[in-house]
Amino acid sequence: MRQDDALVRGVPGGQERGAVGARRLEAVRRALETQDPRPEAFVVASPENRRYVTGFTGSSGAAVITADRAVLVTDFRYVDQAHLECPGWEVVRHGPVMADTLAEVLGGLDVKTVGFEREQATYAFYDELAVRLRDKGVGLIPVGPVVERVREIKEEDEVALIRAAADIADRALGEVIHLIRPGIAERDIAVEVEYRMRKLGADGAAFPTIVASGPRAALPHGRASDKTLAAGELVTVDMGAVVRGYCSDLTRTFVVGPLGAEEERVYRLVLEAQEKALAAIRPGMTGREADAVARDVIAGAGHGEHFGHGLGHGVGLAVHESPRLSPTSDRVLEAGHVVTVEPGVYVSGWGGVRVEDLVVLRTGGAEVLSRFPKKLMVL
Ligand code: ZN
Ligand code: ZN
Repeated sequence: MRQDDALVRGVPGGQERGAVGARRLEAVRRALETQDPRPEAFVVASPENRRYVTGFTGSSGAAVITADRAVLVTDFRYVDQAHLECPGWEVVRHGPVMADTLAEVLGGLDVKTVGFEREQATYAFYDELAVRLRDKGVGLIPVGPVVERVREIKEEDEVALIRAAADIADRALGEVIHLIRPGIAERDIAVEVEYRMRKLGADGAAFPTIVASGPRAALPHGRASDKTLAAGELVTVDMGAVVRGYCSDLTRTFVVGPLGAEEERVYRLVLEAQEKALAAIRPGMTGREADAVARDVIAGAGHGEHFGHGLGHGVGLAVHESPRLSPTSDRVLEAGHVVTVEPGVYVSGWGGVRVEDLVVLRTGGAEVLSRFPKKLMVL
């Protein structure tokens, strides 16, 4: 392995990286032009957005974008890495206070307005920059989700990484399923899931693995606890891998035998809702319409009030990103969106069932990336 490869392992090489980066930078510039008011420069400092637009995988820095400049400000630890990962970007090293250098760079651009990420920036980031720019006669403008919107449509190289992350989750769950039996603690299943994902090549888990059993399965985001599994309980496992920054998201619900009638009925209901939504979801629908396909099935069986979250969410560099599939989402779905389809029924004091697949929207329908079987498994 060449040293360059070792330093930027996991990032597309040389020319390819440059072409992808240039395309993304142009897409963000075009999206900025539609902002009102339109800032003359834009600062992107949130980790996923910064990584998406620059290719930089370091943990600290700020990207400055204007119509004709692209500058990455970062610290000593990352200067060499930034030069390798971000072809086409000017790399500027900052000292102890990033805001000092960032304000100098922005002050030297001959701009009067600088946009910052309204939904991502901390108040401290805003305040430190605003004070320094005020002296230079430069104003800060809050800017909505610009890079997030560009990130919604995945390129095929991004889909390939998400698919790899989904494959790892499928295989890891397959490798631990024999552990799901009475007496094992939820957290022991979660630890094993995460270890298996790492062994299978994941950079890590996309989020702390959820294992929720018995009445705890009624908690849609129940962290794995010390509770041990008991006979007759439902067990929900919600897990995801990260591959080169891209996440996957998978949920399966199992029954620790024996199988009760109500557990079977609710499982079949949720699975029917999930499969109907998978068959229906396609570009041109709104997030609300996709959500309604599953919600109508669940509400029709009298469980409407037990499905208290949206049908799904976008997945990419973040495990939860836009677009959302929910009763309040007017967003029109497009080819290239990668979303989850995850209806659930949660009954307080009893338990819950959720079935979640990851899909990429193609012209005319959904390609399902999750392959782990969905038929009810009694373990
Ligand atoms: Zn999930
Ligand atoms: Zn999810």
